[in-house]
Amino acid sequence: MIKHSCPYCETIRDVKEVKRNETIEIKGKKVSYEAVHYECTECHNLFDTKEQMGKNLLAAREAYDLQYNSITSDKIIKIREKYNASQKAFSLILGMGELTINSYEQNKSVPNSSNRLLLQLAENPLIFFEMYEKNKTKIGAIQREHIESSQVYKDCKRWGGLENLYQHLSSTEREVIENKTYIVGSSVVQIVSDMVKAEMSKTSFEIYADAHEVEEGTIPSSTDINREFSIGVA
Ligand SMILES: [Zn+2]
Repeated sequence: MIKHSCPYCETIRDVKEVKRNETIEIKGKKVSYEAVHYECTECHNLFDTKEQMGKNLLAAREAYDLQYNSITSDKIIKIREKYNASQKAFSLILGMGELTINSYEQNKSVPNSSNRLLLQLAENPLIFFEMYEKNKTKIGAIQREHIESSQVYKDCKRWGGLENLYQHLSSTEREVIENKTYIVGSSVVQIVSDMVKAEMSKTSFEIYADAHEVEEGTIPSSTDINREFSIGVA
């Protein structure tokens, strides 16, 4: 028997766990889930410990996700086919059991929250191919060939991802981008693509003018630096 302080009797009592189906509203939608409470064996009132309240809330959220946020089997098939991967290969790359994806696609089971998160992340080719690099030894050569012949894989290799791009920038240049990201409250991807778009939309004359300016301004004179510094202090 578990012992707990009963808030009704205001003393330590023997309590038992009671499970029951409850319905609550999350984001305006009704969700049913299995809640766990304690029942005092003396006064028979139900009560929750803080820990149980947390667990019940989690169970409700999980039920909500399953009902309204779940990744459908069609969506899983779409993601997997984008990478030319077999069900088994896709499972192993994502670090799941061999038959897991098959069972999701056949609607024999529904992804739990951690696998749902993995599947949502796998939708992003950069993340998927990072998983692929880590787990590709688990799959056969023919499967690897299939995946590497996909258009997304080729595109990813060509771009090399943001990390690759970053390796071509100096730490000062990276700092400029990160500061902008911070100030604007945007992502690095957004900032970099905005910069590229701004550059592309310039007329050739502007690009030429910019290049000229950069050349002249590359080495600032010491008076320039002093002037900037004093402005900064004031
Ligand atoms: Zn009681």
